[in-house]
Amino acid sequence: MPPVVAKIITDIALDREFDYLIPGELAGRVRIGSVVRVPFGRRWARGFVTGLLDRSDFPNLKAIESVTGDWPLFDPPMLRLARWIAEYYAAPFESAIAAILPAAVRRVGAKFKEQLVATRCEAALPSPVEEAALAKKSPKQAAAWAVLKERREMTAAALAEAAGVAPDGLRRLEQKGWITLGKGVIRRNPHAQMTVLPTSAPVLMDEQAAALAAIRAEMAAPKPGVVLLHGVTGSGKTEVYLAAIQTALDAGRGAIALVPEIALTPQTMERFRGRFGETVAVLHSHLSDGERHDEWQRIAAGQARVVVGARSALFAPVRPLGLLVVDEEHEPAYKQDESPRYNARDVAVMRGHLESCAVVLGSATPSLESYRHARAGKYRMVKMLKRVDRRVMPRVRVVDMRIETEKAGAAHLLSQDLVEAIRLRLAQAEQTMLFLNRRGYATAVMCPLCGHTETCPDCSVKMTYHKQSELMMCHVCGSIRKVPVLCSNPDCKAPNVKMTGVGTQRVEAAVRKIFPKARIARMDSDTTGAKDAHAKILGQFRRGDLDILIGTQMIAKGLDFPNVTLVGVIYADLSLMMPDFRAAERTFQLLTQVAGRAGRGDVPGEVLIQTYAPFHPAVQSSRNADFDTFYDQEIEMRREMRYPPFTRLTTVLFKGADEVAVEAGSKDFAARLKANLPAAARMTGPAPAPLAKAKGQHRAQLMLWAASAKEYVPALRALLKAFKAPKGVSISVNVDALSLM
Ligand SMILES: [Zn+2]
Ligand SMILES: [Zn+2]
Repeated sequence: MPPVVAKIITDIALDREFDYLIPGELAGRVRIGSVVRVPFGRRWARGFVTGLLDRSDFPNLKAIESVTGDWPLFDPPMLRLARWIAEYYAAPFESAIAAILPAAVRRVGAKFKEQLVATRCEAALPSPVEEAALAKKSPKQAAAWAVLKERREMTAAALAEAAGVAPDGLRRLEQKGWITLGKGVIRRNPHAQMTVLPTSAPVLMDEQAAALAAIRAEMAAPKPGVVLLHGVTGSGKTEVYLAAIQTALDAGRGAIALVPEIALTPQTMERFRGRFGETVAVLHSHLSDGERHDEWQRIAAGQARVVVGARSALFAPVRPLGLLVVDEEHEPAYKQDESPRYNARDVAVMRGHLESCAVVLGSATPSLESYRHARAGKYRMVKMLKRVDRRVMPRVRVVDMRIETEKAGAAHLLSQDLVEAIRLRLAQAEQTMLFLNRRGYATAVMCPLCGHTETCPDCSVKMTYHKQSELMMCHVCGSIRKVPVLCSNPDCKAPNVKMTGVGTQRVEAAVRKIFPKARIARMDSDTTGAKDAHAKILGQFRRGDLDILIGTQMIAKGLDFPNVTLVGVIYADLSLMMPDFRAAERTFQLLTQVAGRAGRGDVPGEVLIQTYAPFHPAVQSSRNADFDTFYDQEIEMRREMRYPPFTRLTTVLFKGADEVAVEAGSKDFAARLKANLPAAARMTGPAPAPLAKAKGQHRAQLMLWAASAKEYVPALRALLKAFKAPKGVSISVNVDALSLM
């Protein structure tokens, strides 16, 4: 007998599924993952089918009205993954369904768009004289013609945008008989302009070949598991991924490779497309909805078998899935910052488990969580400790800025050692990267008389001074203010406020002063706001049009410039001072990544780390590229303090404009939660969050700790459903929180 009842989750946020009858005429069309229209109360709702049953325990069921689209949007394994996400991350089920389907696909009636397409008329190409006449009369129409002449066919919308011409401008071109406009389907290809030369697989080095063999063994296992690929920077991990993906393709399976958004550079895409060509789909946050929809459908239809993308590419409908790769698995960027707050690395491991697919986690600085699993034998550990082509690891020198300050009689941004090292690179026509993880010019505007610092009225953070605009900016909410003429402490009002603290702008100014002839660029979120600015700066640097690149962590990751022989870390202590138990781990990761940019070509690299804490374990271990020593020390501290990975940490954040309501709500919630927590779970707080106020919202936070999140998530989830928060107070839950701010 075919199922007669369907379980349905609607878009309406209720965290609950409802039963509906399947009318006879829809039998066979209602499947798991089908999108349906159902009566809901007095209105209509859209829903997804999450179960098929022979009968229901509920009386008087309403019937499904219609099925939207031709095929289901997810299959049973993906549904199981969504259920796991909702449960593990204490999130409403409908939000987990939303997470696995891109909005562009979920939307009613989303489909390959039939659009107005502009086509170049082949019959009657205009003469140069006619073209020149048009350029005089209407430069915009002429620009549109120039684009289409080159591209032959594109959507009218894209053409209009590219040439800055209004739609009726295109109509004029049509009237002239130069182009035709008609309905058609063009796949919205995000990389139409990119030409990629095909590449073939190189011969792997010994360590790479061994890593590949280990991954292949895992892929061939009856119950494939997880491989942790610990490879130093420059050891050629990507080449191993590509070879393993080829193995999956050869077996008739597809693969997904996740990379942090920031590493999704044209360089990365080129490597995948060069090897696998048109079968590569790319998913990242800069795609338009249309492009995302079309890439997703191309994957669902089996036309694209290899998916490269950021976090959410994890849910791409690759069937059957042969390999999941998570590169830079330690990256906090894999954590989603809205509900469900999942970690793509951990969900990848779960998807691999549910679909019997091997998972590769790769990093030069694995997370403590993953490394612990690998040491315990839960993951297969593979190491690549040599750089490819016998390149040596860069020589790392730690510069003690305390001694430097004493020598110079005052604090300087650049130590004498670093200045000399840069001078040497300039003389040898080699390139330098300078890293500081803080943008702006001065990171505090301070009164020298009373010590008052200018803070954002809406956020509990200091204002940062930006030199170009000569304004103060809040890096939390983005608000901008003029620098006050007088100290804004009403009891002081002294003149001459000072700019203190260092940001990338000030580093740039200092370097320009010392090396006025050097070609210098800065890369941080202030200079990469414009579309393609990021790629433009990197392109200049790659071509050798720049000598020195100064930047924030944007320049730390994944970049591979053979001519960079010097990396300078201006102030390594910055990330050590974060109020977070992961500060040392983050610092070690960052220093290792930054240092890894040096010496990737034929000339050995050098790294200078400037610091006021030269003997800190994070600094010392990154100097020696000694992951195990760092791990052993850090893991002992975590064990002693009962911090992750020995416990699962969840934060519950309360936010609202009214400080009293936030405090009352958080206390009420905490008291009711505590009453239902088992003894194995520990609760701390509620207390004001380290970032106590952001964007005008007060923030209070409580933390939950237990060996397994299962100890407290059921009680937490039940309370979230039942709890009535005070008006204007919102609650967000972050299971396995990575940030404590
Ligand atoms: Zn003052
Ligand atoms: Zn602010």
